[in-house]
Amino acid sequence: MHELPVTQGILSIVLEAAEQAGSYPVQRIDLVIGTLSSIVDDSVQFYFDALSAGTLAQGAQLSFRRVLATLTCGACGYQAQVIAPLPDCCAACGSTEVLVEDGMEFYVEAIEVEEPNNACSNCEINPDEQ
Ligand SMILES: [Zn+2]
Repeated sequence: MHELPVTQGILSIVLEAAEQAGSYPVQRIDLVIGTLSSIVDDSVQFYFDALSAGTLAQGAQLSFRRVLATLTCGACGYQAQVIAPLPDCCAACGSTEVLVEDGMEFYVEAIEVEEPNNACSNCEINPDEQ
């Protein structure tokens, strides 16, 4: 159930960014999730839909990008991308001197807002600048 506070955090980041961008409705949010972070996409979407009701982010589409963890062997230098449950020794030489990096990410990568089209399509002059 740890998706709830995580989703609240995302929403506040998104709303702040949307306000800075001119308070336009948010259309799309790109999230990066490490495979080891045990965050469930569907739960995030569920909480997001509930929390974002009535805000600029209401109805925004969430997109999830999974980041794999990388295991590096300290003994032989073997590297591999791994998922949970993590191996506790090297698949190449059997050493337990393994280091796992990445895979715990969880952040907002990009936000797309719906910007009004003020530019004149014939002359490409923005009326806001006149
Ligand atoms: Zn090894």
